[in-house]
Amino acid sequence: MAASSYKYVVLGGGNASGYAAREFVQRGVGKGELAIITEEPYVAYERPALSKAYLFPESPARLPGFHATVGGGGDKQPPEWYDEKGIDYKTSTKITSVDVAAKKLTSEIGDTISYEKLIVATGARPIYLTDFGTQGADLQGIFYLRNVVDADKIVAAIADAKTKSNKATVIGGGYIGMETAAGLNKNGLDVTIVFPEKHLMERLFTAEMAAFYEKVYTDKGIKLMPGNIAASFEGTNGQVTTTVLKSGEKVESDIVLVGVGARPNVELFKGQLELLEERPGGIKVDGNLRTSNPDVYAVGDIAAFPLKKYGITTRQEHVANCRASAVHAVQSIMDPSTGDYDYLPYFYSRIFDLGWQLYGINENTTPVFFGDPSTKKFGTYFVRDGKVMGAFLEGGSNEENALMKKVAVEQPPAPADLNELGSQGLSFASKL
Ligand code: FAD
Ligand code: NDP
Repeated sequence: MAASSYKYVVLGGGNASGYAAREFVQRGVGKGELAIITEEPYVAYERPALSKAYLFPESPARLPGFHATVGGGGDKQPPEWYDEKGIDYKTSTKITSVDVAAKKLTSEIGDTISYEKLIVATGARPIYLTDFGTQGADLQGIFYLRNVVDADKIVAAIADAKTKSNKATVIGGGYIGMETAAGLNKNGLDVTIVFPEKHLMERLFTAEMAAFYEKVYTDKGIKLMPGNIAASFEGTNGQVTTTVLKSGEKVESDIVLVGVGARPNVELFKGQLELLEERPGGIKVDGNLRTSNPDVYAVGDIAAFPLKKYGITTRQEHVANCRASAVHAVQSIMDPSTGDYDYLPYFYSRIFDLGWQLYGINENTTPVFFGDPSTKKFGTYFVRDGKVMGAFLEGGSNEENALMKKVAVEQPPAPADLNELGSQGLSFASKL
């Protein structure tokens, strides 16, 4: 059992940690002062690649090609980068207990790691159907996607399915569901998506927006089964063969890929840091991303932070926030005059030859659709209290997406007649 100690420790070597490391280095942190600890066997990589190019049949993304910080426009930081900078990156190391008062972490093999300042970046894990006791949910062939190890299993299962019935069932109509269904379809698999809502991505898409994407999926031969959940699974010799839906219908497949949401990994800190039991959940932090303990910061998917622009506390399970919050936490640690984190919510997805971006918020707003879906370019403004609070655009150029961002930042007043806003479409934003 070894004991080590560092000035700075990042617990969780996921997406955020690569950005934290870069910021520490840029601020002159010395060799041997920083350790990053992760359960995964890899140093930080850009997780979004896993549900997109990683699954492609041709030129798939593979490490070391997508190590952080390439996704954020920076340099690739492979393991050697951390070695050169004198950062102790402890991969394949699971932390099983934390003593915040003693400033000490303990790994599953009993090694202890002490810190002066800790950044918690333990991210989120998939919600597993076994958590709900769904019968048959532990059969082989049922997959979740969170990390490279999961993605490799799915890639192998795709190859295997091609020698069998060539069928895949995707459970969930959110981000994972939509993106992986596209990837499985690109591999030539016969794909069915099962989801409880009326249409895909119900929390973000209006019915009008969803209709466009649903047509793209069905035109590709993907079957959509809305208003349904997986009630149980059946299998042969321990291998899944059938998803039994609540409706009683049965969907046969070799692969079941589940994307029904994520849970923040906060359990190590129960009773030690202020956690939010109710939505949005996570570890509560202030504008400097500092937790209820002054020497512990939290970033990325687990951090429940004040969203200045909207006066609410939020958690954002999205990569732009993990990058920016990691940088902000390091700045806060190194420079006490650092101000509050001022984040603009940003969401995006890419499927087939399509790509959308949303800046700002869409909850509790009136959506105003614009553009012409038949041209593959359309959008939606989200209006609340007479102001445009969010802007979505499919198929936008960099300049047009920048206009959407400007709308969300400035929150301009909407015309009293919202039809007018819809008719103006992009020109509304370009006049700002
Ligand atoms: P993570 O990247 O999840 O890293 C957490 C790390 O902590 C993991 O390596 C984990 O193993 C480790 N860890 C946890 N507990 C322990 C422990 N006890 N001991 C040691 N290590 C531990 N967002 C977008 O905006 N756009 C996208 O297109 C997009 N695509 C995505 C695709 C997929 C497949 C997934 C899963 C997510 C995607 N996201 C996307 C979300 C984005 O990847 C996350 O918001 C981001 O990864 C969060 O970064 P993080 O560092 O907070 O957590
Ligand atoms: P999401 O929350 O996006 O979607 C989960 C979906 O599954 C929802 O539509 C949910 O419906 C549905 N669902 C819930 N329970 C069931 C059930 N029993 N059967 C069928 N469907 C069900 O989570 P994901 O799993 O898609 O994504 C996991 C994480 O990865 C998130 O943090 C996400 O942000 C991140 N991610 C982000 C991407 C991006 O930003 N482009 C891409 C890929 C992943 P309901 O809403 O009714 O609960």
